Amino acid sequence: MTASETIIVGAGPAGLACAGALRALGHSSLVLERADRLGSSWHRHYDRLHLHTHKVHSSLPGRPMPSGFPKYPSRLQFIEYLGDYARSCDVELRCGVAATAIRKDGLWIVESTEGMLRAENVIVATGLANTPNRPSWKGQERFTGKLLHSCEFRNAAQLAAERVLVVGFGNSAGEIALECADAGLFVGLSVRGPVNVVPLEMFGVPTASIAIAQQYFPSRMVDAVNAPFLQLRFGDIGRFGLKRSSDGPMTT
Ligand SMILES: Cc1cc2nc3c(=O)[nH]c(=O)nc-3n(C[C@H](O)[C@H](O)[C@H](O)COP(=O)(O)OP(=O)(O)OC[C@H]3O[C@@H](n4cnc5c(N)ncnc54)[C@H](O)[C@@H]3O)c2cc1C
Repeated sequence: MTASETIIVGAGPAGLACAGALRALGHSSLVLERADRLGSSWHRHYDRLHLHTHKVHSSLPGRPMPSGFPKYPSRLQFIEYLGDYARSCDVELRCGVAATAIRKDGLWIVESTEGMLRAENVIVATGLANTPNRPSWKGQERFTGKLLHSCEFRNAAQLAAERVLVVGFGNSAGEIALECADAGLFVGLSVRGPVNVVPLEMFGVPTASIAIAQQYFPSRMVDAVNAPFLQLRFGDIGRFGLKRSSDGPMTT
């Protein structure tokens, strides 16, 4: 069994970025992906998804996103980009192979669904958002409607319903609620506590760029500086039944 220099587990953006960065330094790597294709998380996301991070902040090392892409590429464009990235960096990829255990015995031993592999280094890039968190609520078993986790949501038509309650207030909840509202459904949002609402851009500048520029300053000071702009942009969010968090977005 010959040893690889580096085995990377997971062919999402993080795993591919590691392979690309290593290749740029003249190092080889082998990427194992349990799904039958790279970027598998992105194949599963809902149809209308566009990146909420500007393409400048979303490209992988050494290869900017194509100039023809919009500022916030679609899910399919991002998948296309990941494939191009893997090809251009000549990533050695084995799809349909899951790592099942990793241990050290001199070198690293990676047990996989295709047998044992050895490597000098292992990078675990299996993703944060791979395992859905499914809360269970009292009385849930008596609910007769369709109950979906966001990872199972594709589009509003799939619900075949007139009313939907979206539970949560993150990016997925926001975009799914918007998709359902655009499709003419009556949409409610369940939000359990005070929130911060930030726009995608402020004065045409991506909020992420502003946050990156402000990261070296104390969070509370940054929040105090930004607060009037957020107030100007959104006004009183209480009119939507929302309560503003006493800590600003940066502090949170
Ligand atoms: C709806 C949604 C929208 C998002 N939008 C954005 C955005 O606009 N901008 C942004 O920066 N981020 C966004 N994110 C966060 C996004 O998940 C990450 O930016 C990115 O996909 C994480 O990359 P990753 O490589 O760490 O993980 P993943 O993309 O999850 O990749 C992990 C890979 O590892 C594989 N894997 C897992 N276990 C094993 C194993 N044992 N053996 C082999 N392979 C394995 C998986 O199959 C998967 O392909 C979004 C997330 C969601 C859910």
